[in-house]
Amino acid sequence: MPINFNNTEFAYKNRSNKELNKASFIFKVMNNPNTVKLLTKLTLLAYKLHLPIDWIVRSTIFQQFCGGENMQECDTTLNRMSKSGIGAILDYSVEGNHDEESFENVKKELIKIILKAKNNLSIPYSCLKITGIARFELLEKINAHTPLTAEEQTEFENLKKRFYEICETAYVNNVPIFIDAEESWIQKAIDELTEHLMEQFNKNRAIISTTLQMYRNDKIEHLNNLITRARENKFFLGVKLVRGAYWEKENEYAKQKNIPSVVHQTKEATDACFNQAVEICLNNIETVVLCAGTHNEESTLHLIKLMSDKKIPNNHPNVYFSQLYGMSDHISYTLAGEGYNVTKYLPYGPIKSVIPYLIRRAEENTSIKGQASRELQLLIKEKQRRKEQKLLK
Ligand SMILES: Cc1cc2nc3c(=O)[nH]c(=O)nc-3n(C[C@H](O)[C@H](O)[C@H](O)COP(=O)(O)OP(=O)(O)OC[C@H]3O[C@@H](n4cnc5c(N)ncnc54)[C@H](O)[C@@H]3O)c2cc1C
Repeated sequence: MPINFNNTEFAYKNRSNKELNKASFIFKVMNNPNTVKLLTKLTLLAYKLHLPIDWIVRSTIFQQFCGGENMQECDTTLNRMSKSGIGAILDYSVEGNHDEESFENVKKELIKIILKAKNNLSIPYSCLKITGIARFELLEKINAHTPLTAEEQTEFENLKKRFYEICETAYVNNVPIFIDAEESWIQKAIDELTEHLMEQFNKNRAIISTTLQMYRNDKIEHLNNLITRARENKFFLGVKLVRGAYWEKENEYAKQKNIPSVVHQTKEATDACFNQAVEICLNNIETVVLCAGTHNEESTLHLIKLMSDKKIPNNHPNVYFSQLYGMSDHISYTLAGEGYNVTKYLPYGPIKSVIPYLIRRAEENTSIKGQASRELQLLIKEKQRRKEQKLLK
């Protein structure tokens, strides 16, 4: 039977009426790009002026997209997801730090996550955003091969040590880790660090997974090159495929620098590349461990169909589906119900520190045609269904 993503009773079975009401209010607000722009500006201004607005953020968008302010607070959500067969990827969403002490603190927290995930089936993966453990401007210089000062060279050595320590802990404890992708003007630096350690730690299993943003026009070639390299050097290639979260920013950057943009200029081109990359990964399933990080129904159905055509079992250990917490439960719960491997990124952290993440989610849910309205329609449908059911009783 074909998969049906419209069964809202199943998708929202873990959500109380109160939670549904709150979620539909938030998606209604996010549906309007101008409201999001205004609220983003007001929030940033309020934090600049040190106004006490944490409680407003906490009870609205934070609760929708985050598991809590610390690891322990995520337990309730984590257990709830686990009961439905959905794994959590605890995502310590602190980014934009500037000093070594903060970077060390993020490293310690990531190591705690890995140790919590050890032998814990409800946390099948961990993840790392390099800008949580390194200064953006340093990565930018490394990316551009700009000579570093002696001080920066020490900073770079410290970054490599931190990165190595996190990946080695993941390896020793057998907890795979996704290295997230970021802006193109620091991505080459991230790729070089990641790919080097993949060769070292992925000999028996894909412990380190890189992320490829398929809105970029050079990523099919990159994927093919990585597969060749993995074959030649006998390691498993862990790949998280996403479309990419910085599309507007990439175009703006290219315009400012007067250089060609590295991202596709039509949604159709990005979609085609994402689907093509999924197929390339499945064609190389003996070498590649794929995670499709998407809320796109068509791409999800495309991957399901390819798996079925190639007689790859739903729960094949080399194929994962992943969504972000607070988004597309209809996809996550339906897939998990059909026995596919499903995970959700579950971000957490002090409210002020996760603001950049929350802004990206709000913008994503407005700028993407139809995404917020699709979520909203599903929430309204489920609210209506529950109302009618109550009337029938
Ligand atoms: C588990 C998971 C992990 C993630 N990790 C990362 C990460 O490491 N790095 C990262 O950058 N993002 C990451 N993301 C975010 C991801 O990139 C966004 O969720 C994604 O952009 C939304 O795309 P979609 O596949 O859900 O679907 P859709 O809603 O179908 O696609 C929207 C996306 O299409 C692209 N797009 C929109 N308009 C155009 C256009 N005119 N021309 C070309 N392309 C266009 C953009 O990338 C846009 O975000 C992750 C997402 C998930 C679910």
